[in-house]
Amino acid sequence: MLPDRSGHFDGFGGRFVSETLIFALDELEHEYAKARHDKRFHCEFAYYLKDYAGRPTPLYFAESLSQELGIKRVYLKREDLLHTGAHKINNTLGQILLAVRMKKPRVIAETGAGQHGVATATVAAKFGLKCDIYMGEEDIKRQSLNVFRMKLLGARVIPVTSGTKTLKDAMTEALRDWVTNVGHTHYIIGTVAGPHPYPAMVRDFQSIIGKEARAQILKAEKRLPDYLVACVGGGSNAMGLFYAFFKDKSVKFIGVEAAGKGLSTGKHAASLVAGKPGVLHGSKSSLLQDNSGQVSNTHSVAAGLDYPGVGPEHAYYQKIGRAQYVTVNDKEALAGFKLLSEVEGIIPALESSHALSYLKKMNRAKRKNSIIIVCLSGRGDKDLGIVTGKF
Ligand SMILES: *Cc1c(COP(=O)(O)O)cnc(C)c1O
Repeated sequence: MLPDRSGHFDGFGGRFVSETLIFALDELEHEYAKARHDKRFHCEFAYYLKDYAGRPTPLYFAESLSQELGIKRVYLKREDLLHTGAHKINNTLGQILLAVRMKKPRVIAETGAGQHGVATATVAAKFGLKCDIYMGEEDIKRQSLNVFRMKLLGARVIPVTSGTKTLKDAMTEALRDWVTNVGHTHYIIGTVAGPHPYPAMVRDFQSIIGKEARAQILKAEKRLPDYLVACVGGGSNAMGLFYAFFKDKSVKFIGVEAAGKGLSTGKHAASLVAGKPGVLHGSKSSLLQDNSGQVSNTHSVAAGLDYPGVGPEHAYYQKIGRAQYVTVNDKEALAGFKLLSEVEGIIPALESSHALSYLKKMNRAKRKNSIIIVCLSGRGDKDLGIVTGKF
């Protein structure tokens, strides 16, 4: 079972942090290990996932989309129907329950587009914890509606003015805050990245996606799917879907990264397809960097994919060939956004549109005979401002 005791997935992962944080990470690892074996924790988590967040989410047979694309059957795992509009709430609920168990009165988080910030502010409001969200100044300008949401929920949004003033810098500042305030603060990381135990813990909290999907597809089709397709930013919705199918060797995993304006332009966020091993935010994984090891600036039309790193377990899946990683550019993603809206009446998040759009790039003969599950990680309401005027 990976990760090993030191938090490594065959060389990726681990803990590259200061001494002060080792203590906090040990405390978290210990508390999480206890919670994993505690029936009460599982009951509580299951209760909030169901009655607060809205699980289980449907596995919807998208008949019109299947016809349109010449695919035998496409199913959509409808994480877009969850409270706050995306899969992120699964993880924030799990972590806030841990924060309460550790008796921490304050939580912090990083956010790019504001989706993880909103999901964190939501659970902090529900459980009565103080909440500070780090957000790049540039993102604050681009995502004013989510900033307003977080404030309504009682959180403080702290502008980050260093670096490119985006997600990567927000995460750096959040880690810095945590070092100073470990005694009374829990840091809710929003994806399967960061130092051990975050990658494994966030994966476990998100693995409900694949557990449900596996049971649902077996009920609907009496067999396993041929492909799982999900977009990869930090990698949490993809890992959440893939994990329960890991041992099902006939099920192929496809992770879709953002090619932005094109891989050759350098303006993209394809950390696995175009990255090299490196360390960022406390763990070793595949990383976009220049020849001297400087972390690259990224671009994607989907703010949730706009991150130079990726969870270490994906780097491991890539290395052992368990998953294939591919890319979809901004333009193709926008076409996927439009297509799903028009043929199924479902407006997807721009992140999820990358996964949808990849279906068009799959080999025709292969897709004609395939049953495919796509993770619809979120809904597109948040993106309407970005796509306005693009069609
Ligand atoms: C944040 C986000 C993502 C990207 O994050 P992962 O950790 O890669 O899942 C994808 N889709 C939506 C809707 C998001 O909000």
